[in-house]
Amino acid sequence: MCQLVEIVLPVPLAQVFSYRHQRDPEADQESALQPGDLVAVPFGRRKNVTGLVVGVRDLAPDVREVDGVKLRDVSRVFPAEYRITGDRRRLADWLASYYILPLGEVVPLFHPPSPGTRARGSGQDTAQSPYPCVDPENITLTDAQERAVKSAEKILDSRSFGALLLHGVTGSGKTEVYLNIISLALAAGRGAIYLLPEIALTPQTLSRISARFGDRVAAIHSGMSAGRRCRVHEQAAKGEIQVVVGPRSALFAPVRDLGVIIIDEEHETSYKQDEKPRYHARHAALVRGRENKAVVMLGSATPDLESMVNALDGRFELLELPDRMGSELPSVEVVDMRGGGNLEGFTPALTEAVNDTLEKGRQVILYYNRRGFARVLQCRDCGEVVMCPHCDIGVTYHLRPRRLLCHYCGFTRKVPDTCPDCGAEEFLPAGGGTEKVELNLQAHFPDARILRLDHDTTRRRGSHHRILTAFARGEADILVGTQMVAKGHHFPKVGLVGVLAADDGLCLPDYRSAERSFQLLTQVAGRSGRTEAGRVIFQTWRPDDPVIQAAAAHDYQAFLAAETPERKALGYPPFNRLLRLGVTGRRLGHVEEAAGQLAEAVRASLNGPGIEILGPAPAVFPRLKDRYRFQILIKGKLGKKEKDWLGECLRSFKEGFKGVDVVHDVDPVSMY
Ligand code: ADP
Ligand code: ZN
Repeated sequence: MCQLVEIVLPVPLAQVFSYRHQRDPEADQESALQPGDLVAVPFGRRKNVTGLVVGVRDLAPDVREVDGVKLRDVSRVFPAEYRITGDRRRLADWLASYYILPLGEVVPLFHPPSPGTRARGSGQDTAQSPYPCVDPENITLTDAQERAVKSAEKILDSRSFGALLLHGVTGSGKTEVYLNIISLALAAGRGAIYLLPEIALTPQTLSRISARFGDRVAAIHSGMSAGRRCRVHEQAAKGEIQVVVGPRSALFAPVRDLGVIIIDEEHETSYKQDEKPRYHARHAALVRGRENKAVVMLGSATPDLESMVNALDGRFELLELPDRMGSELPSVEVVDMRGGGNLEGFTPALTEAVNDTLEKGRQVILYYNRRGFARVLQCRDCGEVVMCPHCDIGVTYHLRPRRLLCHYCGFTRKVPDTCPDCGAEEFLPAGGGTEKVELNLQAHFPDARILRLDHDTTRRRGSHHRILTAFARGEADILVGTQMVAKGHHFPKVGLVGVLAADDGLCLPDYRSAERSFQLLTQVAGRSGRTEAGRVIFQTWRPDDPVIQAAAAHDYQAFLAAETPERKALGYPPFNRLLRLGVTGRRLGHVEEAAGQLAEAVRASLNGPGIEILGPAPAVFPRLKDRYRFQILIKGKLGKKEKDWLGECLRSFKEGFKGVDVVHDVDPVSMY
């Protein structure tokens, strides 16, 4: 008994591949393959490539080739827990079509990297809680929380699809709402998925979920061993686990009868995968929720503009939690940096506030979103900046160890004695960094214990957690760092958050820079005054900027009022769609020519009402890692026909231009 099996594989080819499957004569019916089965097959010189069965038919046992092509045998069939069927298969089809990818390239999202691996040892699936958790018995939901839970309950009861946007400041009780909704789903015999932006950075949330649901919940993320990931996958498929927690990839877990999907901090850009397949987990969650007639709850203190517009247009139900639990939001002072008087990036107002806070025995967080000692090293005579030879970007000056480092490709060199351009011997470290902030602090506050949290201090495994835990325990007085200090942790003793350059991210060449700045400033400000009144200081060169003003006033509506008209006027999302084509290669002329031809082809075929094609133009970073970069931007909504055409165009284009790579990004969240 043989089968001819059609399989899609994770390769950039829009075709199915035929294989032969020899059914086991002993257990004939059992061993027959069916669409949805996950198998391993030989492909080219590779022995075992995981693929999805999309079609089968019977084959006479003596047939060993089809259309003159020799059939190879399926080498392995994975257990039933790895099947991709029903809602997950439909989600895969949607992803392939929406993000313009062959089905085979989205299949890896739906299974662990090495399916079928046995777990070695009996590792913990749930994080043991090092933090005290409030006993749910002792919590009476506030009216606002109650309303949010009731809305979800109504949707669950009617077994329909519904999307809810929970807008509540940090500490307003959103997590408590999520946990209650999950409880309702479990009580109705349904499962839940809880997505977090970065699971490693949110141990407190994870342990709260574990404390509430015990052995019915498991986390799934890339930091786990292959065996553990497989075990969680299998347990979810069997219904032994009903709640799966994890980063964006957890959305694809085979949770049975999914009733709830929670997307915590839904505005975070880490929900968009920045490598192939470039999907957005929030969008995909809405599709999976619809397939399952489930509740999809998006929660944030600073909702993504797109989600808020969806809510205002009535596609999502908007739920507000206006008040912080137990304490007030901290008051924010905007301090003007213009007019001098600043010492090494510290205004007198901030210095005084740090002093004052430390004297009261409370802690300080200082946020500066650049690491290193100086952004660039500039020649004092000719003004030239030392550049990375592989990227058209200045290299960053680091003190410990003393070297120049490219933050884009990792290139490093020793600090030159003389200017490579004019031979002068004096350099000016221009622009600051967290390393410099730390040194300055030490000089200003010699008795303070200082911790630094950035990419450089968190290279070693576990160091990130160690620094945060030490600070939470009060083993340091000041925590200085990049945006890592803004996320996750709850520090009860923090009485002051200082932002050294609040306008730093405002003027990046990206239509979302204002939104991202607002989110970050709001988030970092939210670290202050969690248990008793706290202060926040925004130092800025642009004190009147509406984004800074809105963040200082904790006023999301003001941000919305300032940002919405700009997006509308310029035709940017959420009022329009974007698709970015990035063309890269090592030879400038070649890349430029390729980008030009691609743009021409796209213009000829996709130009229509409501569609605008921009470029090609050099990308924001015109050269990175020795590759020249151009981009073409398609503004407007493409239908299925246009997307199919584009997919075909890109595939044939890659064949025509060797040495040039094209990536396409549907709904890009970053324009670099
Ligand atoms: P968010 O997720 O919005 O940051 P949390 O759900 O973490 O807010 O709530 C903040 C704090 O308030 C937590 O310590 C939580 O246990 C507590 N909390 C939440 N809801 C209530 C409630 N109804 N009564 C008492 N405490 C609550
Ligand atoms: Zn570089």
